[in-house]
Amino acid sequence: MKKEKTQHMKRILMERVLVLQESIDRSLQGLRQGNGVSPDLYDLAVTEADTSMELAISEQNRLRLISLREALVRMENGRFGICESCGEPIPRKRLLANPVAQVCVVCKAREEKPGC
Ligand SMILES: [Zn+2]
Repeated sequence: MKKEKTQHMKRILMERVLVLQESIDRSLQGLRQGNGVSPDLYDLAVTEADTSMELAISEQNRLRLISLREALVRMENGRFGICESCGEPIPRKRLLANPVAQVCVVCKAREEKPGC
């Protein structure tokens, strides 16, 4: 991949990292504030349900953040945009749609259809 294109992808990745980081921070803040209020017993069940929902969302975001960071590492190593399965360059369109993609569409399709 050309250097300037890599830079562009890097910016996209960094932006996504920031957005995710912010939303994780926000949900953590929400959790802390939730703990700060003294809920009476009647509200407790609702608060707990909210909390586990928040946790599930932030866990999802955390995993996405990890794959974004991994993509940035691959970029540093010069392996970004190369299919891990066949070693061919992953089309730019696919990377723009999914910057953390590690395999090309052909290999992805093969993975999803075992026995082909
Ligand atoms: Zn491939």
